[in-house]
Amino acid sequence: MELDFHKLPTPCYIVDERLLKRNLEILDSVQQKTGCRILLALKGFSMYAVFPLIRKYLKGITASSLFEARLGFEEMGGEVHIYSPAYIEDEFDEIMKYCDHIVFNSFSQWRKYRDRVRNYPKPIECGIRVNPEYSEIETPIYNPCYAHSRLGVTLDNFRPDELDGFVGLHFHTMCEQNSDTLERTVRVIEEKFGPYIGQMKWVNFGGGHHITRTDYDLARLERTILAFRDKYGVDVYLEPGEAIALNTGYLVASVLDIVRNGMDIAILDTSAACHMPDVLEMPYRPNIIGAGKPGEYAHTYRLGGLTCLAGDVIGDYSFPEPLKPGDRLVFCDMAHYTMVKNNMFNGVNLPSIALFSEEDGIRILKRFGYSDYKLRL
Ligand SMILES: *Cc1c(COP(=O)(O)O)cnc(C)c1O
Repeated sequence: MELDFHKLPTPCYIVDERLLKRNLEILDSVQQKTGCRILLALKGFSMYAVFPLIRKYLKGITASSLFEARLGFEEMGGEVHIYSPAYIEDEFDEIMKYCDHIVFNSFSQWRKYRDRVRNYPKPIECGIRVNPEYSEIETPIYNPCYAHSRLGVTLDNFRPDELDGFVGLHFHTMCEQNSDTLERTVRVIEEKFGPYIGQMKWVNFGGGHHITRTDYDLARLERTILAFRDKYGVDVYLEPGEAIALNTGYLVASVLDIVRNGMDIAILDTSAACHMPDVLEMPYRPNIIGAGKPGEYAHTYRLGGLTCLAGDVIGDYSFPEPLKPGDRLVFCDMAHYTMVKNNMFNGVNLPSIALFSEEDGIRILKRFGYSDYKLRL
């Protein structure tokens, strides 16, 4: 069965299970070759309909909040890790119920909660997030090591005298990067925190590893993990979000109207601001199947969303044929950091969520409506 985008309502996110499986196989091969443990970071991708499939390959999830932890616990199973810049007092008991690994962002948070963890009837492994003050991310909003970052403990603020009770170190300093960046980062981690690694049971290398991208250097990743495990005798965790869902899904939208103002402009039934916020925040330009850069094909359009935000513009694209109302556009790589981030600004409805598999074809899993909008206000 082939995936026919014309059979979908629009707007609609659709994940192709075949592509997801391909990513999971790559990730699993890293686990097999290195003995590392890979978790899905729910922050990037939380479409729980595919959690049973993901669970066949990965060890569990990592959460950044109580709700993510609960979703992972209920829908995925396996290991449930959590890291948050600070925990909310009233939520902490429930967090301990779902999580088997808790990473703290500061020694003050650890002091506040350590007795509750110690007295909890089930064992919970605790770690501390460190900030190596080394990152190759150039966009400050995505750089956990920019000046005065609140994320992780710097070496200056590290308390070797308070490590009793910790079995893990955690760092997260990467975003969409290759394994050469990891290699250089690990070197800095070793220089700064090397004396403490040997006392730990595990070290979590965070996310941002673009493992499933075609030009990713898997061999270098594997060497780096194996050397680290060898040297320190610790388990290594990776917790990518994006790499799991990279290039596995689409956002299908329709053209609603064509207007002119110095150029042709197509208004779509989707929105950068509501349905692909990273297009504005990162920012980046999504690919559209069959479209090119401005001027590459005969007909160039600016594609805009249906909110009143002036800047709700996806970008300029060209097409071989003129666009007309009713035409469908298929935006690529729309599975990660979309569903988890979308919003109903302007009262714009959310895209439906669909899954394609070879056995079942297209299945529409979710449709949204007025009650979803009203409920939050
Ligand atoms: C965002 C985040 C991840 C996942 O990052 P990706 O870029 O999606 O791989 C993992 N761990 C932590 C602590 C994060 O903040």
